[in-house]
Amino acid sequence: SADQILEKRKKFLGPSLFYYYQKPLNIVEGKMQYLYDENGRRYLDAFAGIVTVSCGHCHPEVLNAITEQNKLLQHATTIYLHHAIADFAEALASKMPGNLKVVYFVNSGSEANELAMLMARLYSGNLGMISLRNAYHGGSSSTIGLTALNTWKYPIPEGEIHHVINPDPFRGVFGSDATRYAKDVQDHIEYGTSGKVAGFIAETIQGVGGAVELAPGYLKQVYDIVHKAGGVCIADEVQTGFGRTGSHYWGFETQGVIPDIVTMAKGIGNGLPLGAVVTTPEIANVMAQKIQFNTFGGNPVCSAGGLAVLRVIDKEKRQAHCADVGSHLIGRLRSLQDKHDIIGDVRGRGLMVGVELVTDRKEKTPAKAKTAILFENMRELGVLLGKGGLHGNVFRIKPPMCFTKDDADYLVDALDYAMSKL
Ligand code: PMP
Repeated sequence: SADQILEKRKKFLGPSLFYYYQKPLNIVEGKMQYLYDENGRRYLDAFAGIVTVSCGHCHPEVLNAITEQNKLLQHATTIYLHHAIADFAEALASKMPGNLKVVYFVNSGSEANELAMLMARLYSGNLGMISLRNAYHGGSSSTIGLTALNTWKYPIPEGEIHHVINPDPFRGVFGSDATRYAKDVQDHIEYGTSGKVAGFIAETIQGVGGAVELAPGYLKQVYDIVHKAGGVCIADEVQTGFGRTGSHYWGFETQGVIPDIVTMAKGIGNGLPLGAVVTTPEIANVMAQKIQFNTFGGNPVCSAGGLAVLRVIDKEKRQAHCADVGSHLIGRLRSLQDKHDIIGDVRGRGLMVGVELVTDRKEKTPAKAKTAILFENMRELGVLLGKGGLHGNVFRIKPPMCFTKDDADYLVDALDYAMSKL
């Protein structure tokens, strides 16, 4: 039962582990956009295991691909040949623009960003890395420095990581003025890194930070500045990739740029532990003769699953579906904003949506306590949301990509009801 699991977790799993909801949910089954608890109660899953279950829980085609591969061979490592990793790399490279053609497989988003940072430093010969305030790039010992959320209380690696002003159109000090935010990157390079830099990394829509879209035109300006200072530009597509934004397959395309390195994880495996780094042959070359080995990265089961994910997204036209359902959802949430003052901002693209709650629209005071109450009440109404933002006052709606307009209506109606009862 939930109580027994909780007791064991407290006893045997470290105190840093946290859970959603005052009375934590014991989830025993998942089917597409639905989750079921131990009592058989069904929930609409609007958070997809933290933006990970892209095709849907236990999607039949992905499940079949994994199961069949599991029966034949689970693991042997890249010291032998296996077709799955090669086929998957080819399929993934075919989804990339420009000269992004070389793929490295790892097991998580943190690992992908670790590797990207290593590549940037080796390629540029510089050490300084730049990331945005409010960013999340991982919890490993070096990516934790790139992660710039005030909730992290760890000492970060000193000296060589610079956090620049976040180009957040809602809360940012310069509104939507990309040029003024880009100037902060220029200043950090001039005064903080002696004019040289290894790399710049950003999510194209910040995920954990609360579905924050970057000011339009920001990445184009910053990429130019970083390239002039000898650095490489990394796009963290861990949450924004694979068509979720609706308008494009990759989030960086919404800003009209092509990065030098792209990192991905989460949705790439529909729940399997899988991540990838894709870069150009030129950057990949500096990795030749260096130690770069990953025991599990791209193992046959994950590769077969990842290949099925790519196939399903194309076959079921999920990118167009995200655009369609996402604009319906955002439209309905904006109408709700006219009715409920607590909704300060509705933002996002496709099925990557944020609803920021405030107690005062003018001051934008975060409605942290009310967000927590609404969050619990939404669960009672059968809808599981994500929560985020610097102030814990943003609902994150990032469901499996099979989420329908009816699901969106159900979610918005539930939110309307919960807000009316506040
Ligand atoms: N980048 C982004 C944008 C993320 O959201 C996350 C995880 N929340 C990571 C990297 C790290 O991924 P992982 O937890 O798989 O290491």
